[in-house]
Amino acid sequence: MKGCFKLPVNIPISNPYTTSIMDINFLNKSKQDLLNHHIYPILHNKVKSFIVTANPEIVMRAREDQAYKEAITRADYIIPDGAGIIVASRLLKTPIIERVPGFDLMNDLIAYAEIHSLSCYMLGAKEEVNSKMIGKLKEKHPNLTIAGNHHGYFDMDDRFIVNSVKNAQADLVFVALGFPRQENWITKHYHEFDKGLFMGVGGCFDVLAGEVKRAPDSWIKLNLEWLYRLLKQPFRWKRILKAIEFIIRIQLKRY
Ligand code: UDP
Repeated sequence: MKGCFKLPVNIPISNPYTTSIMDINFLNKSKQDLLNHHIYPILHNKVKSFIVTANPEIVMRAREDQAYKEAITRADYIIPDGAGIIVASRLLKTPIIERVPGFDLMNDLIAYAEIHSLSCYMLGAKEEVNSKMIGKLKEKHPNLTIAGNHHGYFDMDDRFIVNSVKNAQADLVFVALGFPRQENWITKHYHEFDKGLFMGVGGCFDVLAGEVKRAPDSWIKLNLEWLYRLLKQPFRWKRILKAIEFIIRIQLKRY
């Protein structure tokens, strides 16, 4: 990889353009801007970094759980993944310019990794889902280097997992354990890793494996991905209640 991306001496990877929503600083940039001016330089300069893709449920969890809030605010970037975040930013009259779905960001990063010979570690999901996802990735990205992979059902302190990620020296580490587990796992062990862009990706491996279908583009464009997910996975209704509470709190300014 060529050192064609130069970062300033004091790398301003921490939240240069943000909008605060319930005391969480969301990045307010387009996906392309984020990639071109932040993430790609970080990858090329091998700077360790941490990305959180947050939706209203995550913000509400942070409101109720101080330890989780501390974990997510350690991220270099908190990305607005969730239509409710965009709605809240408008209600607060500090509009976020673009929703950045974590799934899209992850896909862009995987495609970029393949082209630029960067390696990925895929941690999370059920064992069979993780294997199926690796198979699909290899089909779609034959030149992608998978530095390692493991399912997501392990103890938070499992040394085998930490050492496996550490030894793999991957440039990108996608962690699909669902929230709050993925952010808690990343922040708990972050100090042990020398390199890597760490990103919590929730249920994205299930989608990559073909186990869960993503909403059609028309629904995504209408910011209705959450509704599609609810219709497909009705057991998620409790989450929607949290998202509704989030919007009501924003509206009433009761943070
Ligand atoms: N998962 C995991 N380990 C766990 C709990 C969950 O690997 O201990 C995986 C689960 O199999 C699924 C993902 O984490 O692939 C959670 O997906 P979900 O869509 O619920 O993500 P969230 O919206 O909670 O971030």
